[in-house]
Amino acid sequence: MHHFHYRKNELYCEDVPISSIAKKVGTPFYVYSYATLKQHFDAFDGAFSDVGHLTCYSMKSNSNKALLALFAGRGGGVDIVSGGELYRALNAGVDPIKIVFSGVGKSLSDLEYAVTSEILMFNVESPQELLKLNQVALNSGRKARISIRVNPDVDPKTHPYISTGLKENKFGIGVEEALLQYEKAATLDGLDVVGVSCHIGSQLTQTSPFVDALRKLKKLIEQLVRMGISICYLDLGGGLGITYDNEAPPHPKEYAQDIKSELASSDWTLILEPGRVIVGNAGILITKVLYAKTSYDKNFFVVDAGMNDLMRPSLYGAYHGIQPVKQTPGEKLTADIVGPICESGDFLAKERLVDPLAPDDLIAVMSAGAYGFSMSSTYNSRPRVCEVMVKGDRFEIIRQRETFEDLVRGESIPDFF
Ligand SMILES: *Cc1c(COP(=O)(O)O)cnc(C)c1O
Repeated sequence: MHHFHYRKNELYCEDVPISSIAKKVGTPFYVYSYATLKQHFDAFDGAFSDVGHLTCYSMKSNSNKALLALFAGRGGGVDIVSGGELYRALNAGVDPIKIVFSGVGKSLSDLEYAVTSEILMFNVESPQELLKLNQVALNSGRKARISIRVNPDVDPKTHPYISTGLKENKFGIGVEEALLQYEKAATLDGLDVVGVSCHIGSQLTQTSPFVDALRKLKKLIEQLVRMGISICYLDLGGGLGITYDNEAPPHPKEYAQDIKSELASSDWTLILEPGRVIVGNAGILITKVLYAKTSYDKNFFVVDAGMNDLMRPSLYGAYHGIQPVKQTPGEKLTADIVGPICESGDFLAKERLVDPLAPDDLIAVMSAGAYGFSMSSTYNSRPRVCEVMVKGDRFEIIRQRETFEDLVRGESIPDFF
């Protein structure tokens, strides 16, 4: 469910016509629906309400402060993957005791920042990181709570770029090696072993890979208990998929049910790190048609948003629905929707049946709330677009459009020239 719909052939976000936002802020821009965000967070979090749990929103999917504040206000924590994300989270008012830190390449300064911020838990991804973190904790006179991110070697059956829990993926530590590392960690004075974690991939459309991973983690925990290491947090990562085209992912309720039925009488606190499933369908990208052209019988609509603004189609060949902001009568045609960037990989959609668009028409690129703005760049020296939040009949800019001055901020020409 989301709150983007047509009224009299006009696309609305909740009670605001998209065209009225465009008039105010220009194009392109991302727009998010408050009601959708809230509903998605509550549906996910609520599905686990009968067990001890913490929903740590995976903020790399969309790290705007407004979204973080919204979820924090509903009891959520965050899953971070960098010092920059920790800064954003703290800045948005997220409670440090609800922050978990994942990632294969945490730098020394990231670790120091997170240790002194006293976050809930580090998901450690290598033996060397374990030692480095121990040292950082000892130096600051604190104990760092850790889990080891285990690579359970299960196939999430998703795009290879977003599968993370297979043997050949760079993430986590294999099950056998993890046991040795837990044994080691238990002897390190700077560390407090509290959890086991995994994250097997993204955009999963079945629950069975999650269940397979959970079973492997349970076995590991049994072995740890025998070694005298007790675990209180079980972090299952994120990865639940959404509908972009005709995928039929399980509802969070179904996902939660399948997980909870594996946990019968345990007293672990579950940690969940959903990203896409919360924000993916709560945001869209609005772009304006610049030119319509036909080249060798192929139709192109050149629009003012490109791969720098929404990278997923170029990066993964990902599908995003294309909808007109004003539905126009007339025969539809098959066309590619392409951006202004000087790369042939710069497209938002290929071979789509769309309304007969004309210059200045607005189109919506659907399901762009996750890994949209957060993956955007200034490639081709294009200022990053603005982000807008709609609630009911109101809207507000939650990130200003960047300016040309922003593009050169911090750059200088050396004196020795
Ligand atoms: C990216 C990521 C997530 C979120 O994945 P989604 O598919 O967006 O739910 C959760 N945990 C970790 C460690 C991640 O890297």
